[in-house]
Amino acid sequence: MIAPGAWLGVLGGGQLGRMFAMAAHRLGYRVMVLDPDPLSTAGAVADRHVCAALDDATALDEMAHICAAVTVETENAPTAALERLVRDVVVRPAAHCVGIAQDRIREKRFISELGLSPAPYAVVTSAADLCPMNIAALLPGVLKLSRFGYDGRGQAHVTTPEQALAAFERMGCAPCVLERRINLHMELSVVLARGGDGRTALWPVAENRHKDGILDLSIVPARIPAALATQVHKAALTIAETLAYQGVLCVEFFVDGAGTLMVNEFAPRPHNSGHGTLDASRTSQFEQQVRTLAGLPLGDTTMCTPVVMQNLLGDLWDGGIPRWQALLADSSAKLHLYGKAEPRRGRKMGHFSCVAPTLDEALDAALRLRRLLPASAHADRPSPIAATT
Ligand code: ADP
Ligand code: MG
Repeated sequence: MIAPGAWLGVLGGGQLGRMFAMAAHRLGYRVMVLDPDPLSTAGAVADRHVCAALDDATALDEMAHICAAVTVETENAPTAALERLVRDVVVRPAAHCVGIAQDRIREKRFISELGLSPAPYAVVTSAADLCPMNIAALLPGVLKLSRFGYDGRGQAHVTTPEQALAAFERMGCAPCVLERRINLHMELSVVLARGGDGRTALWPVAENRHKDGILDLSIVPARIPAALATQVHKAALTIAETLAYQGVLCVEFFVDGAGTLMVNEFAPRPHNSGHGTLDASRTSQFEQQVRTLAGLPLGDTTMCTPVVMQNLLGDLWDGGIPRWQALLADSSAKLHLYGKAEPRRGRKMGHFSCVAPTLDEALDAALRLRRLLPASAHADRPSPIAATT
């Protein structure tokens, strides 16, 4: 066990790293963030922000020297960096787990080998792979870069072989997968933790709604039959056990109109759909990341209440500063802002969670507050001040 007071390192400095650092601080650890962005939102709360590339040899040496253990907050962490660090310090999850999760081609092969079903797909590494005969059954489909895509980026929806070829060329002919577009009945995910001793703990399944390829809303627990929830939990555990995974893992699923469950992808870290655990669970996914990293006992993953998590993207700032008063005055809601200065479109600026005795009430509250939040929501009505002057 790595005792509180020690340094924990994290590769990557976005909001997931920030929430990891906050959880680590609560348990008395010190945190070093490695991220090249001087404005890193995790760096802003860390005890030390090393502002360098994730594969910078000097920075990695410093991390290995000071930290007792290192984790990742992005699947795009270079595996070579993890392999270098593991010579000196504890690294969780291991490089081979991150390596599979960061490469869709390897990830899908791995899922298939386990007897689980990915969405039907083909590997595309050259224009010849896109010949009409090969891909007819996969159209309409989604062409996805095998590496470095996120939040729907590095993806193109295509309906004809010509469009698929044009999209492949736009992506620089880098390795891709072409996936059949699934008629989505529902998207699900589950976050779990696996400790160094092989013990596991799962949170309830989340029901996720996306907008333009970006997570918008997560509803926990998902409104699905118990048998489907069990199937989701089993699939996620199979993935974790096979990888001998150590740390927090999230697995995303598709459910089509016929009720077929498919594994979409997995993330070797806490996940956006698990943010509700911060306000509704005995142990949050970030505290669990700290616990697995430091070799502490796993925390209790019981949900104390249903929770609905709403993402706040930069788009919300289009009409001016969002109406935080409305949200903060509501007893069911908890606001989390990530301290990012510039609200760019599609950028994750924060989220809020609504908890209530029933899921319906939590969902109603979240949907109501989301309507109230935009500054422009009441622009047509005179403000109380304007009305009296
Ligand atoms: P990432 O989350 O890494 O950007 P995903 O593959 O999870 O990439 O895609 C993001 C979202 O786009 C999914 O959650 C889903 O809403 C939609 N999507 C992706 N692939 C498909 C598909 N084959 N059929 C239907 N929708 C898809
Ligand atoms: Mg995804």
